[in-house]
Amino acid sequence: MTTYPVAALEGGVDSELAGLFNAWVANWAQMYDCRLDVNRVPELLALVESDDDAEAWTELGYRLVLEHDLLSLASLAALPRLVRLAAGDSAKARLLAGAIMERAASHHDGDELLAASAEAIVELGALLDRHLLSRPADYLVTFRALLAVRGQYHWANVLGDFDDDFYELPCPHCAAEVTIAIGGFGRYAAIRDWDLGDIDRRDLRPSSAGELSGVGRWMHEIAVRDGEDVLAEGIRHLFGKAECPGCASVFTIADEYGAANCPVLR
Ligand SMILES: [Zn+2]
Repeated sequence: MTTYPVAALEGGVDSELAGLFNAWVANWAQMYDCRLDVNRVPELLALVESDDDAEAWTELGYRLVLEHDLLSLASLAALPRLVRLAAGDSAKARLLAGAIMERAASHHDGDELLAASAEAIVELGALLDRHLLSRPADYLVTFRALLAVRGQYHWANVLGDFDDDFYELPCPHCAAEVTIAIGGFGRYAAIRDWDLGDIDRRDLRPSSAGELSGVGRWMHEIAVRDGEDVLAEGIRHLFGKAECPGCASVFTIADEYGAANCPVLR
């Protein structure tokens, strides 16, 4: 899994990188946006800062996140200003900063720029966490953005709301393609048959709260704290165990799914 250097986030900004970053910010001409323009993003940021211009926000969105997918250097350079706006209660800025962070594991040649934005990223994390406490309508989007801020890019990109979620992964023992279902219709491991549907179903074995560790424990604690019962239950299952319908071996779903799908480069 690609992880962000958390120590760098928590330990402050390296002064050399900060200097480099300031030089970059001073010279936006070096940073193309997703439409390969160099001057428009600074103009748009100025517009949204001065009067929350709706059209400018829309254009800023597609210039900073290419087809909802990849980033440009300008995306990363814009983070500190977006976080400042988000701190001033701009929902659009919070969403756009979160969208940039979710994609920050993709190729963008901007690792130094990302590291130099460490203080802004830490502040964004605090903002997102506070927003979660208000139990907002965009809870899952915010939760995923917070996962990205914590360097959990994989889960930031694949976590669903457990209303109707399927995870495909190979059994680590027999390599059978196993379908894991976690949703309102059931929580099971099965073999997916094109004609017959999910066959040979085996109930999942969720972890108890005390058995969770690492990112699963943290995710579960946040969901429980915020009264997000469906999400919390889903996480206990996702970070619990499944029995392979093919060979009856038992494995931890999140470990195998992560191993089969990392790094996620959208
Ligand atoms: Zn198996």
